[in-house]
Amino acid sequence: MDADVVVIGAGALGLTTALHCAMSGRSVAVVERHTAGSQASGRAAGLFKSVQADELRTRLARRSITKAVTFADWAGTPLAVTRPGSFLIARTVQHREFLQRELAQSRRWGVDVCEAAPPAGRARLSYYHPAGEDFALWCPEDVYIEEPTSLIQACLAACQRHGAVVAENEPVIGIAVTGSRVTGVETEHRSIMAPVVVDAAGAWVRQVAELAGARVPVAAVRHQLLITAPTAQVDPADPIVRVVDAAVYLRPARGGLMVGGFESDPLPVDPQHEPASFSTDDLPLDVGVLRRLAGQVSAEAPAAVSTPVAEHRGGLFTMSPDGRFVAGPVPDRTGLWVASGCNGSGFSSSLALGEALATWITIGTPPAGLSALSPGRFGPLPDDDLLSRGLWQYAHYYDPAAS
Ligand SMILES: Cc1cc2nc3c(=O)[nH]c(=O)nc-3n(C[C@H](O)[C@H](O)[C@H](O)COP(=O)(O)OP(=O)(O)OC[C@H]3O[C@@H](n4cnc5c(N)ncnc54)[C@H](O)[C@@H]3O)c2cc1C
Repeated sequence: MDADVVVIGAGALGLTTALHCAMSGRSVAVVERHTAGSQASGRAAGLFKSVQADELRTRLARRSITKAVTFADWAGTPLAVTRPGSFLIARTVQHREFLQRELAQSRRWGVDVCEAAPPAGRARLSYYHPAGEDFALWCPEDVYIEEPTSLIQACLAACQRHGAVVAENEPVIGIAVTGSRVTGVETEHRSIMAPVVVDAAGAWVRQVAELAGARVPVAAVRHQLLITAPTAQVDPADPIVRVVDAAVYLRPARGGLMVGGFESDPLPVDPQHEPASFSTDDLPLDVGVLRRLAGQVSAEAPAAVSTPVAEHRGGLFTMSPDGRFVAGPVPDRTGLWVASGCNGSGFSSSLALGEALATWITIGTPPAGLSALSPGRFGPLPDDDLLSRGLWQYAHYYDPAAS
């Protein structure tokens, strides 16, 4: 089998890139080691966030929201999206000032966001009751996808409709390189020749790039969430809540409450140092991390701590030193592309990032601003720096500019 484009990895970033390449008339093969969406993408919280730290990420995030809610119109297959909006809440002076800055800059970048009513005015929110004075932003554009696998299934159906082939249970074990040019991939079953190879292997992106002698500047870091049993304390129609000083997010889920967050001392897990068979199912989970995070909002959201846990899941983020995606052509390896550096937003930004990458691949020039995400932008960064900066970005997911 030959193709114009081979994508390695059928997560959100790989599938959306493949879909947009196929929609641009390219023949596309996606090769997946396990099953589509079985790693980070199938475990995501499904949250989309319009307020972002810089203009490019804001543009990608908002474009993704538009593409998600109009998915059937342009991709030809249905996708259910819940559109309740979100509150961004700050309970400290420092974080209030941070949100005020985010409000001003996000509005400048076109986001529909405003200061929310004072706590008393938000009393109707079923599962979050302000316990004191706080400051909140109302973000009506924000949405979520209830089950992350529905985005994967919608992308798979759309890929099929547009002629992209997705091969599951077929690990890539080699990348063919002639001179400095990539010419295809070797899987456990066959060779696929292609002038363009996209490494979208999630937490395995570095290992896969190394098959071509290339380096991708990301560090893999664990992230977890839980979903409580159904409870009358949660109205399923209620908005998303993000408490930025606690680094906690909450949303209705399956009749209960989803609780996730960003601990200050996250766990790095480098698949290169794990057995070759390592997958997300082998990731050690620690519900204590989530209990501690939930404890920080127990006064406001008692269901987060008092309701039994129905599901606890986790996976790996790919963190970059500056918190931005790592996407584009790899320097010195013509034909090799990367779609990575999710920094915890790869699920929600995938529809726009996949679209932008496909445009870059097919037209040959980067869409406005995209070259800033180049995999080569950090130069030869030592692994220790890569890790420490990635961990910092994780711990400051909601407030990268608050300190
Ligand atoms: C608990 C949790 C909650 C999250 N919540 C959100 C959220 O609310 N919003 C948001 O935007 N993001 C969220 N994220 C982050 C989001 O899940 C990731 O950014 C996104 O899924 C990354 O997609 P990906 O395609 O890069 O990776 P993956 O989904 O991991 O896909 C990579 C694929 O590559 C495959 N692969 C690896 N090696 C090979 C090989 N050698 N050959 C072939 N295939 C290979 C893997 O099997 C895998 O399927 C969350 C993540 C977690 C873990």
